[in-house]
Amino acid sequence: MDELPEQDFPARRAEMVEHQLRGRGIGDGRVLAAMGEVPRERFVAERRRDLAYADAALPIGSEQTISQPWIVAAILQALELKGDERVLEIGTGSGYSTCLLGRLASHVVSVERHSSLARAAAEALASCSASNVELMVGDGSRGVPDRAPFDAIAVHAAAPAAPPALIDQLADGGRLVVPVAEGSEEMLTLLRRRGSELESTAIFPCRFVPLIGAEGF
Ligand code: SAH
Repeated sequence: MDELPEQDFPARRAEMVEHQLRGRGIGDGRVLAAMGEVPRERFVAERRRDLAYADAALPIGSEQTISQPWIVAAILQALELKGDERVLEIGTGSGYSTCLLGRLASHVVSVERHSSLARAAAEALASCSASNVELMVGDGSRGVPDRAPFDAIAVHAAAPAAPPALIDQLADGGRLVVPVAEGSEEMLTLLRRRGSELESTAIFPCRFVPLIGAEGF
C-alpha cells in the first residue's frame, strides 16, 4: 500500500477522535480536543508513521509500546483534569500521553526507566513545544516523593497492586489510575483519595506491559 501524504495526518486524527474515541464512549471534551490536536505521528518511529492513527498499540523500541489511542483517552478521562492540576506520570514511553497531559493540566512530572525512550520522548515533546513537562529517568514505582502531593497520577504499566508509595503521594481529592494485575489480564483501576479514605473503581480489563521496579514486578 502506498503511503498517504503527510498532510493527511490531521484528517486521520479527526477520524480517530470520532470513531475510536467518541464512538466508544469517550465524552470528556477537553480530552477529545487535545487528542484531536497532538500529532501522534511524531511519537512513533519514522517508518511506522503510516500506522500512527491505527486502532492499536505500536512498538517504540526497548520492547515497549505506545498505547492504543482509546486506552490513552480512557486513562486521561478517568483523571478528570480541569487544567490547574499537578500530575505525575509513570511510564513516559514515547511521550505521547505526556504531551496530552501537558495540555490538560498545569504541570507534569513523567518518569521512564529506559533512558533511550526518555531521550526520544524529550525530542518529540520539544517538537510539540511542551514546556510544562519534566522528564525523569528511573524507577517510577516509588513515585517522586519530593515533588508530592499530586492531584492526579497516571501509571501506564501493570502493577501487582496499586503501589502504596503512589497512593501516599496523592493530594486530598486526587485520582490515581493504574492497571492492576488480575490473573492473565489487568484491570484498569481508579483510586480516589477522600481524606484518609480511598475509593476504588474498576474501569475495564485491559493489557499493559509490566511495571518493573520496587513496587512493580
Ligand atoms: N504512555 C506511554 C506508554 C508507555 S508503555 C506512551 O504514550 O507512549 C509503559 C512504559 O512504562 C514503558 O516505556 C516502560 O519502560 C515504562 N516503565 C515500566 N516500569 C517502569 C517504572 N518502574 N518506572 C518508570 N517507567 C516504567
